[in-house]
Amino acid sequence: MSDKGICDKCGAKAKVYLCDSCGKSFCKHCLQKTMMKIAKCPFCEHHIEK
Ligand SMILES: [Zn+2]
Ligand SMILES: [Zn+2]
Repeated sequence: MSDKGICDKCGAKAKVYLCDSCGKSFCKHCLQKTMMKIAKCPFCEHHIEK
């Protein structure tokens, strides 16, 4: 997770997560969560560790 940035998915200025697999950033609203609460990148579905 990094400081404020711009979400590559929805364009919002927010605190963003960085995917270390595809390098894209996305806000928590775009972060995909599974039923088991595993966070996944909305672009490549790489698991995100907080
Ligand atoms: Zn977003
Ligand atoms: Zn990714």
